[in-house]
Amino acid sequence: MVRDTKYYDILGVPPTATEAQLKTAYKKGALKYHPDKNAGNPEIAEKFKELSHAYEILSDPQKRQIYDQYGEEGLEGGGAAGGMNAEDLFAQFFGGGGAFGGMFGGGMRDQGPKKARTIHHVHKVSLEDIYRGKVSKLALQKSVICPGCDGRGGKEGAVRPCSGCNGTGMKTMMRQMGPMIQRFQTVCPDCNGEGEIIRERDRCKRCQGKKTVVERKVLHVHVDRGVKNGHKIEFRGEGDQLPGVLPGDVVFEIEQKPHERFQRKDDDLFYHAEIDLLTALAGGTINIEHLDERWLTVTIAPGEPITPGVIKVIKGQGMPSYRHHDFGNLYIQFDVKFPQAHELKNIQLLEQVLPPRMPQHQPPPDSMVEDFELEDVDPSAGSQARAHGAATADEDEEDGVPPGAERMQCASQ
Ligand SMILES: [Zn+2]
Ligand SMILES: [Zn+2]
Repeated sequence: MVRDTKYYDILGVPPTATEAQLKTAYKKGALKYHPDKNAGNPEIAEKFKELSHAYEILSDPQKRQIYDQYGEEGLEGGGAAGGMNAEDLFAQFFGGGGAFGGMFGGGMRDQGPKKARTIHHVHKVSLEDIYRGKVSKLALQKSVICPGCDGRGGKEGAVRPCSGCNGTGMKTMMRQMGPMIQRFQTVCPDCNGEGEIIRERDRCKRCQGKKTVVERKVLHVHVDRGVKNGHKIEFRGEGDQLPGVLPGDVVFEIEQKPHERFQRKDDDLFYHAEIDLLTALAGGTINIEHLDERWLTVTIAPGEPITPGVIKVIKGQGMPSYRHHDFGNLYIQFDVKFPQAHELKNIQLLEQVLPPRMPQHQPPPDSMVEDFELEDVDPSAGSQARAHGAATADEDEEDGVPPGAERMQCASQ
């Protein structure tokens, strides 16, 4: 009698299930609920984790015994917390996580030897680092062939092909169903589908018979000057190692972090500069902090007005171009900040500086002339709507066309 059937229920097996039944149930469920197949569905992802966790506990005879006797609480530390990553467990089963790349992704590797999955990693770099170039040291966890047993899982000679299935991991079984004999394929119960048998005492201590161990590896990723966003740097054979297959690759993709001062477009940089009206008209300087700790002092010549929104260029001050020895340009777009009313003094002196006012259309001599003054627009929507409403009412009176039903009424009168 087991105390709690939750883990069995998750796997959909009775508490009397054999190891082989557990394994089959896990495989079936894992393929169904794998997040790669159910992208963006957190519920399914959670299910995948639960399933993996349940299997991890029940497939370990010691943990299973504890669970059967004491339930989930009995497992604390050894079970509920920590434990194995669901993806790693999946990878162990299906040869390196890339299972869906091959099985569902359509990219089945038919030709050539099998290869462990590629480890993809996005490497975020600042624009400064791309400007100057650098070498990033990045650590990754990967599985390597266990050095204790050279990937055999046990002592030399201790690993034998399973005689129950001739090393295939699958077995044809017969079952009497009344007068019929049914044949069916099942996971070999002798070796749990492994195809080989290692006696418990001959199991490698270092990898517990798993054939691989997890290792931390540091890779030196060269971020070359001027490298483009999305550029991929490949380390062939530096990925996971698994027995009987080629080691996988590691691919780093460069992702350029947004920059607070510059936007980059290919090899060019774009910069936004705000200047005051005096500088725009009478000249001055602006200082731009570049990406390599230099400051660019840019002179705006007096008498060569900068108009709001205008774009100017400083040649050769953009990004270094990737694997060339030249540079893009630095484009500067100007915002001109106009003074506030209270900041203006002696405004009449402007008439000595600026060209005369543009001529205006003059009303014909016999026209009615009214005087107006400008007001600030009230930013609250209410007053604007009211002003607009008043205008339409006037129009209505003029040509008698109110909108909608009223218009119909008017027409029928
Ligand atoms: Zn077998
Ligand atoms: Zn080993």
